[in-house]
Amino acid sequence: MTETTPAAPGRIAFLGLGHMGEPMAVNLLKAGFDVVGFDVVPAAVAAATAAGLPCATTAAEAATGAAIVLTMFPSGAILLDAYRGVDTPGLLEVAPPNTLFLDCSTIDVAQAREAAELALAAGHRSADAPVSGGVVGAEAGTLTFMIGADASDMDQITVLLEVMGKKLVHCGEHGAGQAAKICNNMLLGISMIGAAEAFVLGEKLGLSHQALYDVISTASGQCWAVTTNCPVPGPVPTSPANRDYVPGFAGALMAKDLGLALNALENTGVSAQLGPLAAQIYRQFSDEGGAGRDFSGIITEIRKNSGN
Ligand code: NAD
Repeated sequence: MTETTPAAPGRIAFLGLGHMGEPMAVNLLKAGFDVVGFDVVPAAVAAATAAGLPCATTAAEAATGAAIVLTMFPSGAILLDAYRGVDTPGLLEVAPPNTLFLDCSTIDVAQAREAAELALAAGHRSADAPVSGGVVGAEAGTLTFMIGADASDMDQITVLLEVMGKKLVHCGEHGAGQAAKICNNMLLGISMIGAAEAFVLGEKLGLSHQALYDVISTASGQCWAVTTNCPVPGPVPTSPANRDYVPGFAGALMAKDLGLALNALENTGVSAQLGPLAAQIYRQFSDEGGAGRDFSGIITEIRKNSGN
């Protein structure tokens, strides 16, 4: 894609070439976009280079002359440091005026709003677009993006995100994408604990997994945690329970997202009980061996604590 084609946004600096970022950047490249990658970890740069992605040697080099700075970082603190610069000029300083700063990381809502304020104050544009769909979705280009952005930027954002995703939801202004993501994931964490408790109770009461699944999946307890990511092996052959809880969606990421939800609950004064409890349960799960297991593996903890 050249700068003369209508959809061409100009150069994309793609920063953060980890599990998610690398395949997302490669999908943009394959679609013909002009992409330059960067990661602070040399092994990530080497892997991206081997996958055909041109890479810069510093973040500033990638962002210089970029029309879009797309980030896929572990945390909001890292994003804010990169925007402002720590010992070197930050991305906001080196990027040309009116660059679109598009952050796809999952970060704290308050930090997402702060990042947007900084970008706008520096004469740029900003959007948050966290994803769901995991590494499989990143590789296949089937992610869901939850977008917080000015409506006037949505056309340009859509052109990019359609390459990497199959569903885009414009949730509102800056920070709204992160807000939607943590609300969804808080509900997901709570519902998975509920599903796991229901199956362990069923085991104690002598129900087969299949019988309970057949009821829940067609009755009022129906939810994604049961019908797609069923925490017991058998009823849903593709669920991680059938492969000893290889993720899927890792316990560490659920613990992270529930921590972000907890911050938002505290900042907004919501009187929630299950969200904070789910955050505590997944923090413990993650700290005690579940970090790299699918979050549905929480059922093994419930069984263990139930003497099963
Ligand atoms: P990851 O740790 O594999 O990748 C993050 C990358 O960012 C790393 O390679 C790291 O070296 C790099 N990085 C850190 N600081 C940097 C900097 N200053 N400049 C350039 N690169 C830097 O994480 P991931 O699994 O790819 O996840 C990325 C984001 O996506 C996270 O916010 C995560 O919560 C979110 N997410 C992940 C998944 C998933 O299934 N992995 C699903 C949905 C959302």
